[in-house]
Amino acid sequence: MTSQAPIQKPEQRSLDAVIVGAGFGGLCTAIKLREAGIENFVILEKFGEVGGTWRDNTYPGAACDVQSHLYSFSFAGKPDWNYRYGGQQEIRDYIENTTDEYGIRPFIRFNQEVNGAHFDEQRGVWTLTTENGDVYTTQHFVLATGPLHEPSYPNIPGLDRFQGKVFHSARWDHDYDLTDKNVVSIGTGASAIQYVPEVARQAKKLHVMQRTPAWIIPRDTRAYPAIEKRIFRRLPLLRKLHRARLYWTNESRVWPVFHPSLAKGLQQLTKLFIRHQVNDKETARKLTPSYTMGCKRILISNDYYPAFNRDNVELHTSGIAEIRENSVVTKDGQELPADCIILGTGFVVDPRQYMRGFEVTGVNGHRLQDDWADASRAYMGITVPNYPNFYLLVGPNTGLGHNSIIFMIECQVHYIMECLKLLRQKNADYIDTRQQALDEFDEEVQNNIEGTVWTSGCQSWYQQEDGRNVALWPFSTWKYWLRTRRVDTSKHRFVQCPATVNAEAENA
Ligand code: NAP
Repeated sequence: MTSQAPIQKPEQRSLDAVIVGAGFGGLCTAIKLREAGIENFVILEKFGEVGGTWRDNTYPGAACDVQSHLYSFSFAGKPDWNYRYGGQQEIRDYIENTTDEYGIRPFIRFNQEVNGAHFDEQRGVWTLTTENGDVYTTQHFVLATGPLHEPSYPNIPGLDRFQGKVFHSARWDHDYDLTDKNVVSIGTGASAIQYVPEVARQAKKLHVMQRTPAWIIPRDTRAYPAIEKRIFRRLPLLRKLHRARLYWTNESRVWPVFHPSLAKGLQQLTKLFIRHQVNDKETARKLTPSYTMGCKRILISNDYYPAFNRDNVELHTSGIAEIRENSVVTKDGQELPADCIILGTGFVVDPRQYMRGFEVTGVNGHRLQDDWADASRAYMGITVPNYPNFYLLVGPNTGLGHNSIIFMIECQVHYIMECLKLLRQKNADYIDTRQQALDEFDEEVQNNIEGTVWTSGCQSWYQQEDGRNVALWPFSTWKYWLRTRRVDTSKHRFVQCPATVNAEAENA
């Protein structure tokens, strides 16, 4: 074999990488690819703009519950965040500005919804197809769609018969004026508790349909004064220290997850907060959860509970019996007139469901839908055996309830870049994770979930229907950082595909 001669591939790959999704994850991957000198890639984005969840969720009051200085890239700090917790528009602006600053826009193909990805092990390429009939071939395929993009529409009898306006919180209709309307809002999760106080200020009457109350703690928000922004601009080290402090403060919140007794202590304080904020004792009781705090996502708000002190806001907890043409009927027999129904009912978070229209096939005819039939699993939440050079961002068991998901995304992208480096070093075409590596990783993760507050007896979007938690990382996030610094080569196979082997033989 000639030692340094470039290997002629029998067929050129069109692209080095295809990234699906132009939210935080896709953007981070694109920036790091460019930093590594890889420019032959595209981002396929289903909609017409970047931003992912921060483009979709425009409902009034939308804001992040992770502090902005931490909910941003470590390599693209912004000294002049206006508030401790950025609002949707400010975060969206940050994503758009970062896209432009790093020159990523020319790499994005908008309005390209991917519907299939197939790996050819002879050539070591993925072929991705889109709804418009376009075809992309690539060596690496990064799925950066995240789990919170497909609205979940509830299956409530009569919803399709309703004659008024219906929209989901992630598809807010800003042309519809809520002023003086009778509004029914379904759901009391992270989205609903943000828009309820805003809608209450406009609507004639707002009925809040609660199935399970959330534990809501005060939002320790504040505006950053101009002087602080100037200091952060002039002294980036201080901004980084501020970010580090926020990270470690948040990280300390992982303790109640592993020690539910601590969570129970915090819950007593939160009960006082509810009683302090809600005037009516019975309403306060209904708003107080009966499950251990942290089992479902802990929410933060200063204005959700007080919304129930308004004369035009009413809480309903008996459940919805049916929806009629112009009303919603509760299980305790009340018929509530409705001009508009807002669905704050969350997202289809199970990859097995949100990828149902997206066929992924790997080596030896493996289908992701089949391999994930009982649960979605990925090694480090990133790679899946039999799907070489395929990487997930915010994949199974890498979500967080206590810290910034941007931190996890950066770890994952670093890991992907390490895989690419190793492939070059080993002159291999693809990296394929060993099944045993995934099985051991999965066992470790699931064992660690046992006994946490998440298994203390509640239903949440963290779990699939059989109770298995497929969403959350059950360790400290710095442990994830440590484990994604380097690729453990013993956990993967590095493969030269037959076409490369033949080409090398010819070149030798
Ligand atoms: P969610 O937390 O899943 O809440 C959905 C709500 O709808 C729950 O109260 C649920 O009740 C209710 N619901 C669902 N189906 C229903 C049905 N058929 N009938 C009656 N009620 C029904 O969804 P989300 O509020 O959109 O938030 C999802 C995630 O997005 C959050 O956990 C968070 O990760 C992210 N998010 C973050 C922020 C932020 O940073 N501030 C804001 C919004 C969203 P049950 O609890 O009984 O299931």
